[in-house]
Amino acid sequence: SKAALFDAENKVKITFADVAGLEEGKEEVKEIVDFLKNPTKFTKLGGKIPKGALLIGPPGTGKTLLAKAVAGEAGVPFFSLSGSDFVEMFVGVGAARVRDLFKQAKEKAPCIIFIDEIDAIGRSRGRGQIPGANDERENTLNSLLVEMDGFSTDSGVIILAATNRPDVLDSALLRPGRFDRQISIDKPDIVGREQIFNVHLKPLKLSKELDAKKLAAQTPGFAGAEIANVCNEAALIAARKDKQEIDMNDFQDAIDRVIGGLEKKNKIISPEE
Ligand code: ATP
Repeated sequence: SKAALFDAENKVKITFADVAGLEEGKEEVKEIVDFLKNPTKFTKLGGKIPKGALLIGPPGTGKTLLAKAVAGEAGVPFFSLSGSDFVEMFVGVGAARVRDLFKQAKEKAPCIIFIDEIDAIGRSRGRGQIPGANDERENTLNSLLVEMDGFSTDSGVIILAATNRPDVLDSALLRPGRFDRQISIDKPDIVGREQIFNVHLKPLKLSKELDAKKLAAQTPGFAGAEIANVCNEAALIAARKDKQEIDMNDFQDAIDRVIGGLEKKNKIISPEE
């Protein structure tokens, strides 16, 4: 159906304040915010604004959040689609969808196009595939490359994409004039986790003893998505016990539950390739 082609958000409310940690990533994308706000300032000496940047890092580390914050900070629309939506698609649909996306984005420029899981479209062509099995994915990738080459950045469209598998990407995507900037988004260290906890604790009713530092120390290896999940679980656990506020015990239970969920997930997911 037409509605499922891609997502478009005209008014993005997320800003850099919603993105905890990721200081280097924020620093890099701030430049893109400036381009979007004031393109002529950058082009008047003859320079070309980059077309796109690739956000590289493990799942749940805030890549989508950061991309959205760029749109929110610049006050521009956010168009998004996920590479995984293109798997098992009918012939011609993927390429048409990409063309449609770029057409609409150009009409709404300045704006951001965000492609999540770009590796699902952008795997290097013909590499280790059953012949003929992935023609449609290749068509989609080719149309993406054509679209990226076919507009100038004066049009005010900047493309951000995210992946946790940069190693499988077709090198054509990384050529100058395409995703020529790469920004790495890592899992948070203990300080980063404390900052992420602080963002997600803010809207909750907490007991006075609650200590974000301790929570950060108890969640090594957690990405932002898991921390957000812990905070929500803790609120639900406390509510189920008819508590008026959430205490450290509730967080302890929530952390155990999220760790349990992760272990289950890791058992089900088979190692890739
Ligand atoms: P994926 O690769 O799985 O798409 P992602 O890197 O795009 O993951 P997001 O979708 O941005 O991750 O993160 C999921 C959620 O986790 C966010 O909506 C937010 O609630 C929380 N989160 C992740 N990272 C951060 C962060 N740095 N600061 C605050 N919240 C975060």
